[in-house]
Amino acid sequence: MKLVLASNNTKKLKELDAILAPLGWQLVPQGELGVPEAEEPHCTFVENALAKARHASLLTGLPALADDSGLCVDAFGGAPGVQSARYAGEPRSDSRNNQKLLCELGDNPQRTAHFVSLIVFVRHADDPQPIIAEGEWHGEILSAARGDDGFGYDPLFYLRELDRTAAELDAAEKNRRSHRGQALARLVERLQERARLSPPR
Ligand code: IMP
Repeated sequence: MKLVLASNNTKKLKELDAILAPLGWQLVPQGELGVPEAEEPHCTFVENALAKARHASLLTGLPALADDSGLCVDAFGGAPGVQSARYAGEPRSDSRNNQKLLCELGDNPQRTAHFVSLIVFVRHADDPQPIIAEGEWHGEILSAARGDDGFGYDPLFYLRELDRTAAELDAAEKNRRSHRGQALARLVERLQERARLSPPR
């Protein structure tokens, strides 16, 4: 199945593709189809993901997949949340976002945080029954970056049980554990369930 991915984040595309390609899903980033980025005006992941998926599907006529994700820091009441990509303002920069996070958290002893991934699949722009799947990945924020893999806040996201940051995991291990990997696994289950209950004619 060919579907448009409502994102141009190449690292996110790589993570999603590694999981979906073996299932026969061909993901085409919206930029390759001339789709401009959708507005993300909402304060919840689910509303933003739905807006992005409907926008990409409307402009391409293809089924669409959107992921809205971010980092929720407990000491900040869940911020930066949906603002994670733009936390330090424009132009977006992972390193400035990480610096701001370290600065705002200072030596606060409460360092727990989690990533959220909210994935939405729509069959068409007006789909009344989108498939919505969510994953969470819990860890702690270090006081200095470690590791070179991954993207975004990965170098500060410490997994105590592994004694490694997300940026010290190889791609396959990150996919197995991450918020996005968990959300995708749920999405695939839901798609398979739908195919069983309402097989395509
Ligand atoms: P989105 O493209 O609006 O969903 O923004 C997601 C932002 O959340 C990214 O730009 C990163 O800052 C952060 N983020 C989401 N997932 C991850 C991850 O797996 N690792 C590190 N940062 C992430």
